[in-house]
Order: sequence, then C-alpha cells, then structure tokens
Amino acid sequence: RLTLENITKRFGEVVAVNELSLEVDDGEFVVFVGPSGCGKSTTLRMIAGLEEITDGKLSIDETVVNDLEPPERNVAMVFQNYALYPHMTARRNMTFGMNSSGSYTDEEIDERVSNAAEMLDIVDLLERKPANLSGGERQRVAIGRALVRQPDVFLLDEPLSNLDAKLRVQMRSELSELHSRLQTTTVYVTHDQVEALTLGDRVAVMNEGQLEQVAAPQELYDFPKTQFVAGFIGSPA
Ligand code: ATP
Ligand code: MG
Repeated sequence: RLTLENITKRFGEVVAVNELSLEVDDGEFVVFVGPSGCGKSTTLRMIAGLEEITDGKLSIDETVVNDLEPPERNVAMVFQNYALYPHMTARRNMTFGMNSSGSYTDEEIDERVSNAAEMLDIVDLLERKPANLSGGERQRVAIGRALVRQPDVFLLDEPLSNLDAKLRVQMRSELSELHSRLQTTTVYVTHDQVEALTLGDRVAVMNEGQLEQVAAPQELYDFPKTQFVAGFIGSPA
C-alpha cells in the first residue's frame, strides 16, 4: 500500500504539487490524469525517490520512505522516453544494476529476464541494442526492466505516448493483462482520458498541483464533482 499524505513540492516559487493526499491499495491500478504541467510527473518522481519531497509524508506499507534512496524503496519506474542505455543489449538494459547489487544470483536474474521477456513477447530481441528495436519493442524492454525488479510499486509515466495510435491501443490491453496477472500496485500517469478510464481501477484527476477527484472510471464519468472534471473527462483526447 502506498500512502501520500499532504505531499507538496515546490520549485522555488512554483508549487508543482500542493498538499496531495491519496491511498493506493495493494494491487490497485490508479491512473493520474490531467493537463500538461499539472504536476503528474513530479508526483510520480517523488514516489520513485527521484525528486525530494518539500512537505508531507510518503509511505509504502508501514514505512515512511521520504528519505530513502530510490533503490531502497523497491519501486520501479517506466519513463515516456524509455530511458534505455544505447550501448547495452536489451537484456543488459533490463538487468543493469542488479548484478552488482549482490542481492541476486545470476541464475535468479536469468530466470526473471526469461519470465518477463516471455510475458512481453521480447524473447527473441534480448540480445539486440535499442537502436535495432522499434519504438514499441523499446517500450516493452523498458517495461521489462521494471518487471524483473519485481517491485512493490510499479510507476509508469506516459509510457505509451510515443507509440502510434494502433500500437498504443494494443499495449494498453497488454498492460491491463499484465496487471491482472501480477497484481502489482501501480500508479500510471497520462494526459489521455480514454487511456485513464480504460486502465484505472480508480482515476485521480489532477489540476494545478491538486486532486480534483479520485473515483472509479464510471463514477467519474457519471458524477463529476467539479466543472473541471466534467470538462476534462468529457472532452476528446
Ligand atoms: P506533462 O503532462 O506536460 O508531462 P506534468 O503534469 O507531468 O506535465 P510536471 O512535470 O509534474 O507536470 O510539472 C509540474 C509543474 O512543475 C510545472 O509547472 C513545471 O514547469 C514545474 N516543474 C517541473 N519540474 C521542475 C523543475 N525541475 N524546476 C522548476 N519547475 C519545475
Ligand atoms: Mg509529465
């Protein structure tokens, strides 16, 4: 379980995230949706430990993680631009940092890669470098890198926005399927309301650093609490 209590992030004068509170249950898939600049990525980066929290309390299960480094949190993040190392094979990209940590045996790592690769249908691509992969394949590798870490919390920041429309719809259902299988607690960020409503157990609508409403997709659609929510959810992507 992931708990955000009055989380605030300031960059100098800019309040990027303003006293945001939310609880994400074990196994739940929560989607943050909102316009550009509303604070989605900043929120995700704070959960990942990539951005310091200015104020508030962030917990994973019973542990306050505000001051824990990213590797100590057991969360894994997938970025919009894949963030793969160009000089490493897909396999190496997926396992980078795990070998040296000493927490896993080589056999264990190999098995995890095999399992993830099978789920993501990239078994035959593991020895290729990113330059020789399509955008969709790169994104699968980036997701695979998160999967092999078997995180407590899975964070995805607009993972499908660089893909063409057809592939985006396909990957959307694959991500749903993956989530039904693994049941990892997930926070997913997008500015695409259709994606949000399709993927989320609950959808958190964000505007100007604050949550307007957090609800199941149908409820959000039928009973928007504010004009902003009604306008944002009701309008085409
Ligand atoms: P998008 O949909 O465009 O990715 P977002 O919802 O992810 O937007 P954030 O990247 O979280 O938005 O940014 C929230 C606010 O914080 C914006 O006003 C942005 O300009 C500001 N911001 C983000 N990072 C920094 C930074 N390192 N320094 C200063 N301001 C920042
Ligand atoms: Mg963003």
